[in-house]
Order: sequence, then C-alpha cells, then structure tokens
Amino acid sequence: MHAAYSGQHLCGSHLRASVDKRVRRRIRRDGLLPADASPADPETWVIGLSGGKDSVVLTHLLHDTFAEDPRVELVALSIHEGIEGYRDESLDATEALAADIGIRHEVVTYDDEFDVRMDDVVEDDPENMAACAYCGVFRRDILERYAADLGADLLLTGHNLDDEAQTALMNFFEGDVAQIAKHYDASLSPLADRSDAPFVPRAKPLRDVPEKEVALYARLADLPVHMATCPHSSEAYRGEIQQVLHGLEDAHPGTRHSIMAGYEELAELAAGRYKHDDAPGLSECVRCGSMTTREICRKCSLLESIEAA
Ligand code: SF4
Repeated sequence: MHAAYSGQHLCGSHLRASVDKRVRRRIRRDGLLPADASPADPETWVIGLSGGKDSVVLTHLLHDTFAEDPRVELVALSIHEGIEGYRDESLDATEALAADIGIRHEVVTYDDEFDVRMDDVVEDDPENMAACAYCGVFRRDILERYAADLGADLLLTGHNLDDEAQTALMNFFEGDVAQIAKHYDASLSPLADRSDAPFVPRAKPLRDVPEKEVALYARLADLPVHMATCPHSSEAYRGEIQQVLHGLEDAHPGTRHSIMAGYEELAELAAGRYKHDDAPGLSECVRCGSMTTREICRKCSLLESIEAA
C-alpha cells in the first residue's frame, strides 16, 4: 500500500505493524490505562462492537494488546436495531469474533429495550426525521446505560481518522462551536481531565488511522467483518463531507491529519471557553431517570411519538 500522506510504501505485515503502533501510541497519549490499574482492581473496557470493519479491528487489536494483561478486562457490546436482512448478519460477525478471542459478549436489542424496531420506526416516521436521528439517540442511550451497568471504566468505539475529520468539518461548516467543545470534552481530551464526567468516558483508539488502512488491516488479518451498508443509512450531509474530504486528500495528501491537528487545538480552546458558560445543568429524566438537560430526555420523547403514531 502507498500512504501518500507519509510517502511510505508498506507491505501487508508492515501495514499491520504500523496500525498496531499508532493505536498503542494513542492509548498511551490519551492515558487510557491509569497508572493505578492492577490485576486486583482491573479496568473494564466495554467495546461497542457492531460487526463492521472499524469495531472488529478495534476489538481484535485491543485483545492482541491486552489479552495477557490482567489489568484490563474487555467486554463486547453489540446492538440489534431491528433492521431486517442487515443486523442479523453483522451480529454473526460479532459472535464469531467474540467466541474466537474468548471475551464476554452482550447483545441488546431495541425491541427488548424500547419495544421498537427501526424498520417500523422508518415506516411510521412520526417526527419526519432521518432514520439515523432516531437510531442514534436509542444507540447512545443503550451504550451509556449498559456501559455503566457493566461497571465500565471506559467505553471504546471504532471511529477512524476519516470519521473524526468528517465530524470536525461538519462542526466547522455548521458553525457549531459549542458542539466542537462537546466533542473535545467527550472523547478528544486526555482521560485524566474527564474524571468528573457524569457518563462512562469514551475513547477512540483508531482515530489516527485512515479508514482505508483499517479496511486493509481487517482483510490482512482475515477478520470476520460484515461489509454491507445499513439500508436506512441517511446521513446525507456526512456523505457530502466525505466526498469533499476524499477529493482534498487526493489533491493534498495529509489533509485529514492537518485538519485534526488544528481542530484538536481549537477544540481545547473552545472547551475552555464554554466551561464557564451557564450551560443548562443535567438532571434526571422524569420518565427513565437518565441524565438530561430537559425534563423528559430525548429518547423518552421519541418513544412517546413512536407509540402515539
Ligand atoms: Fe441506525 Fe442510521 Fe446506523 Fe442504520 S445507518 S444502523 S439507521 S444509525
């Protein structure tokens, strides 16, 4: 593979070694494994495992790195949204991987949790919104709640460099400085700075690795990956940004890296600026008890509309 942004030509084994190195360096830089972690009091890391290439590579790599380290326990968490002909196959991939590496694997369904299936939500569409706008709220609720219930010290997701650069550009183009500050607080800042967060802290160890290299890694390591795209995928704006970014990266290799280098610096400044603002405080949702800035959280109000449809 030719990595134009670095000028390197890498064979399969060197590409794998290079990805391993970048992920381990990110784990160190973000301070994901605290110095006081011990075999007697191990860290529980819950991985959001969808069965797509990113989360499968992340799970494989974390297992490769920490399987012999008694200070870290890995748990995979997969979610079935109720999407016929799509999620069943990707859950097969997650089960194959978890069984192969021997880690605990939890599967949660929207049907059991909320009595909804995304196929039905899309058909009724009571709020006249894109499918992902419902689905993202439900998924975030399950990830946060289950990570806490499983006693997680960290919730890890497979976001890669392209995902992060797209999010950065979307926040810029929408002029959403508050969202940039939230992005920093949620997953870009060093873990030690997030000790007072009300949620299990998030981490994205693949965020230095371009998407294409994650896909190549999955193929080279012969990992069980589900490659299909969700039939309800509707993040049209992200798709447009992705095209822009591909064009810029082709014409100016290294664009994604430089976007993220500058963005992280600016995001830190924005987070400092917004820290002192009178943002609405968090309190418990009167329906489900989860933390929210409103009386009724977004998940409960969406479920209400779906039930009334
Ligand atoms: Fe849900 Fe959208 Fe992802 Fe499909 S693409 S699983 S609808 S968030």
